[in-house]
Amino acid sequence: MSEKRAVVLGAAGFIGSHLTDRLLAEGWRVTGMDNFITGTRRNLEHLSREPRFDFVEGDICQPLDAITGRVDAVLDFASPASPIDYLKHPFETLHVGSHGVENALRLAKRAGAVFVLSSTSEVYGDPLEHPQRESYWGNVNPIGPRAVYDEAKRFAEAITVAYRRYEKVDVRIARIFNTYGPRMRLDDGRIVPTFVAQALRGQPITVFGEGTQTRSFCYVDDNVEGIWRLLHARFQDPVNIGNPHEMTVLQFAEAVQRFVGSHCPIVHEPLPEDDPRVRRPDITRAKEVLGWEPRVGFEDGMRRTIAWFRERV
Ligand code: NAD
Repeated sequence: MSEKRAVVLGAAGFIGSHLTDRLLAEGWRVTGMDNFITGTRRNLEHLSREPRFDFVEGDICQPLDAITGRVDAVLDFASPASPIDYLKHPFETLHVGSHGVENALRLAKRAGAVFVLSSTSEVYGDPLEHPQRESYWGNVNPIGPRAVYDEAKRFAEAITVAYRRYEKVDVRIARIFNTYGPRMRLDDGRIVPTFVAQALRGQPITVFGEGTQTRSFCYVDDNVEGIWRLLHARFQDPVNIGNPHEMTVLQFAEAVQRFVGSHCPIVHEPLPEDDPRVRRPDITRAKEVLGWEPRVGFEDGMRRTIAWFRERV
């Protein structure tokens, strides 16, 4: 059988670039696309001589006519994802989650390709059910500051399901929980790079509120394995991809201090509006449908991530 071809939208981003590497390692050809709004060319530099990779610079909110020929999978990982990024780019975030996702779905329909949406645990909002199962409809403030991201992703899921229902596109929906690892931007404002950069620079670690809110962190290799399996699973409903190992933000800050070997203090800052109080995926479905669960332990993943950041601080 001839070589398969994937189109990765958001290929210059954190997860998109790791996914591109994985697809290439599995023998696929990959066309990446990105407008660099939050991603960076550096994430793809190592592929400059890779004959099975090509890149189109562009905005997926414009029709994707430049992408022609055989396409077996369209993986949409294009969207500002960190609060700093989507609050700086509110309209771009709303547009990429609506027009952008529809353009990606149209491409998948035209090519007869599988479509994979990178949705998010933020569709659960500040959840009243814990841990979060895919059957939970969420508790999202539609007019709060985070709505530009949360509601864009909820719309993205809705239009994806509409293309499945009415246009017969073969879709996958990954509800991704906090993912971390090398190639995150140091200044993207997400908790892992922020705390690690602060500790490496010997600055105080800034915890929002008391730090009793919980988070669970999935190492990027585990995430990509989950996406890879989802791509191949004949399963069209949403699947949580995340690590169920839950900890408080304060525990996380203390772990960063320990791993970095830093004696910098932990300081508290006001809690942002609508900050989720708890976050932990129920991954029963991913285990059953994909035979997937995270393999990389927290300490191992953090050490690999810190080593990468240490070179760049
Ligand atoms: P990222 O910001 O590193 O990557 C997103 C990429 O998409 C960037 O390279 C950006 O330039 C590109 N992009 C954005 N808008 C675009 C547009 N209109 N046209 C072309 N390219 C565009 O973020 P990430 O963490 O890699 O997230 C990737 C996807 O996974 C996003 O959809 C995000 O919502 C989702 N996700 C990520 C996490 C996480 O913890 N990292 C959690 C939940 C969901």
